[in-house]
Amino acid sequence: AAIPSDSPTIFDKIISREIPHHVVYEDDKVLEFRDIRPQGPIHILVIPKVKDGLTGLSKAIAPPNPQRTSASEESHIDILGRLLYVAKLVAKQEGLDDGFRIVINDGPQGCQAVYHIHVHVIGGRQMNWPPG
Ligand code: 5GP
Repeated sequence: AAIPSDSPTIFDKIISREIPHHVVYEDDKVLEFRDIRPQGPIHILVIPKVKDGLTGLSKAIAPPNPQRTSASEESHIDILGRLLYVAKLVAKQEGLDDGFRIVINDGPQGCQAVYHIHVHVIGGRQMNWPPG
């Protein structure tokens, strides 16, 4: 499993347009693009343009860096809410009217591969529960 880290990730190269990707939504704070290995007919990744310590969700809730102030954690509330809000917008835009799945893989046991927080929006097929 990848080691959680604050170092630059492949998503930084996507944000800076160094790596080609299919944008489905963009505003000043959030970028959404199609996953390179889709797990369904629709699979979109929703990421903040600025990482700001948000390498993963558990780290956002309990940052390992004691220097990080509670103010910076509170600033995460806005971006985390925004990720979910635009995830819903894009699901509607993609016609996922019968439902969809939102996933956040967090940390090594959560199968997180890229340590720049992101929300997966997966749809266009019947999902199962519990996930594997
Ligand atoms: P994680 O397991 O960290 O939640 O998922 C990372 C996701 O990023 C995976 O679904 C993977 O397919 C996707 N991904 C990794 N590299 C690239 C890339 O270069 N371009 C795109 N579009 N998706 C990528």
